[in-house]
Amino acid sequence: MRSQVHMPLHFTIDVDWVPGSEAGLEGLLDFCDRRKLKATIFVAGRFAETYADLIRDCRRRGHELGTHGWEHGGLEKDEDFRVAGYDQQREWIRLATKAVEKASGVRPAVFRAPSLWIGETTLRALEDEGYRYDSSVPARRFDCGFGRVHYLKYFRAPSEPYRPSSYRLSLPGHSSIIEMPPSAFLLPINMATLRVLGLPVMKWMIRRISRRASRLVFYCHPHEFVQADQQSFPRNMSKWNMRGMGPENFSLLDTFVEHMVRRGYSSTLFADSFGEARTSSYEATPRGYVTSPQ
Ligand SMILES: [Zn+2]
Repeated sequence: MRSQVHMPLHFTIDVDWVPGSEAGLEGLLDFCDRRKLKATIFVAGRFAETYADLIRDCRRRGHELGTHGWEHGGLEKDEDFRVAGYDQQREWIRLATKAVEKASGVRPAVFRAPSLWIGETTLRALEDEGYRYDSSVPARRFDCGFGRVHYLKYFRAPSEPYRPSSYRLSLPGHSSIIEMPPSAFLLPINMATLRVLGLPVMKWMIRRISRRASRLVFYCHPHEFVQADQQSFPRNMSKWNMRGMGPENFSLLDTFVEHMVRRGYSSTLFADSFGEARTSSYEATPRGYVTSPQ
């Protein structure tokens, strides 16, 4: 038991553009208050534009806001940052940034690519839009037919925070962006894995991950906490995934958070992870990793 050691848990929420899922976000904000969690919330631009009051509430309750594409979640053919050109990516990021800033009063500086589909061009677009953190590189992840990460280009990327190289996102370099890879042990540490495989398997995965990573990046979606028939999904959304959605997932999430607290994790915002003085220790090192903070 590591209950004496403080380890950062990044409790992150990906808010896709799914009308009807706003009830799930409201529920998650209450859950965070009850559990005293501060979350990093990545919001699709159109959601922020449509539910501006709710996004303002996220900020008011002390959470950190980022962006998550423009219309991602509501499209048959989703935004794909792996292949879209620089101008297109910059436009999606700019629109989403404006919508979140208008709703919350604060300019977001953290990004998560829709479906974790990201490329080197995205890094450049984020730098040029003044972003400071990204949390999209699918290190150690391959979904084996389940989920949406079926490319191995960045499989060997560091599991710890690092500044990527502009030539290859999976290599440490000198970007102004700090990459915070979502945690995975082949499958992601997210709500879908928890729903499908259950807490015992998640506990095992977390033990394996914590041997080489000093922090954990977990994510869930508001739409996972609302019955599917109360939400508007694109036609190609998997029927199987829609069956597992509903408010009963809050008690499952509670068991996960309880486990993490017992292991000595406590919720931490990306922006609070590295003071300005410490940022330099996140440069590339000869070992390929960066120094982890205490
Ligand atoms: Zn998403």
